Amino acid sequence: MDAVIRNANLADGQTGVDIAIEHGRIAAIGHALAVTAGREIDAGGDLVSAPFVDAHFHMDATLSYGLPRVNASGTLLEGIALWGELKPELTQQALVERALQYCDWAVARGLLAIRSHVDVCDDRLLAVEALLDVKRRVAPYLDLQLVAFPQDGVLRSPTAFANLKRAIAMGVDVVGGIPHFERTMADGAESVRLLCEFAADKGLRVDMHCDESDDPLSRHIETLAYHSHRLGLHGRVTGSHLTSMHSMDNYYVSKLLPLIREGGVAAIANPLINITLQGRHDSYPKRRGMTRVPEMLAAGIDVAFGHDCVMDPWYSLGSGDMLEVAHMGLHVAQMTGQDAMRACFTAVTDTPARILGLDGYGVAVGCHADLVLLDAADPVEAIRLRAARRLVMRRGQIVAESPRAQARLSLPGRPDVVDFRLTR
Ligand SMILES: [Zn+2]
Repeated sequence: MDAVIRNANLADGQTGVDIAIEHGRIAAIGHALAVTAGREIDAGGDLVSAPFVDAHFHMDATLSYGLPRVNASGTLLEGIALWGELKPELTQQALVERALQYCDWAVARGLLAIRSHVDVCDDRLLAVEALLDVKRRVAPYLDLQLVAFPQDGVLRSPTAFANLKRAIAMGVDVVGGIPHFERTMADGAESVRLLCEFAADKGLRVDMHCDESDDPLSRHIETLAYHSHRLGLHGRVTGSHLTSMHSMDNYYVSKLLPLIREGGVAAIANPLINITLQGRHDSYPKRRGMTRVPEMLAAGIDVAFGHDCVMDPWYSLGSGDMLEVAHMGLHVAQMTGQDAMRACFTAVTDTPARILGLDGYGVAVGCHADLVLLDAADPVEAIRLRAARRLVMRRGQIVAESPRAQARLSLPGRPDVVDFRLTR
């Protein structure tokens, strides 16, 4: 064997497990495996997980915070306006450099697969070219899946649909959309039809920014579920944000959830962004705005948590840490039961991996040896501590290492200097 990780806990609750790795894949999993390996790694009872997956991100905007100015109001609409100011000034080189820098942050955090939207409303398609270049360059260590995203509306912006088709022809993977940003509700519904039919024709996945508002009557998710079902796109369609569902009438939602399930449509909530951008027109009480995560999970709908933004026109914080995303999601959705907390870990690992359609993902024999060793015993502790990534492995190779979180205490009135582990 090339390597063996000893005494690991797994996210499914197994403890004291050995994981043997050969030729970049998991060759065996079991207790006290009788194998010799080129490299022995002692997990010491810590959690070994498949890597984090971010199913919703904007890599063309990331790390641009403050360019050309900061978002003074901190609102979604000023963010979109600011992005419009920044776009003409973007250079391909700067985009590539920022994206590569973000991918380094991601790898260090054990985040090895990202679905990024890329704005196709700039006729030069500069960002598309830049992120396709980045996708090729990071492929040895990170899976980057791209969504052709018509930020200004596929119908509202005159060249957007043609540009979207060009982006797909250039190698962009997924069809995006933004129905709530079209001029009218009817145009929004028409954009969903148009884009789903295009995706069905090309055999592509769909991921739309959908109903990202506090409008209880914004119902493009219903249209998306309808066309997914009509066109047989089950398992390939995602509604991102769905924040309007927070404000919808409860009776209507009781009809909507089975429709989403029937259409095989997955949902992505973006807790860090939803909790800061939604409810901005409210005084008090102020709505949270995040979509109905526990209710969707109970209805059998796949729900992932995405990061969405890191240091860009919409959000000045973030670090590529999907445990921070899960932590916020847990709080905003009040998912504090034991199973619910574990589901928040699944929402940044297994579920987004399924949404992206990742091949060979997971901790099972035959899967890629893409693994993260966390400074925590289990998924709940990992979220609680935003645990250090002791080791990140890609195809059996160690690509990042971090020390355990530790402090040296020298306390007045206490004689000993103590190295204090900040975990358990
Ligand atoms: Zn987004």
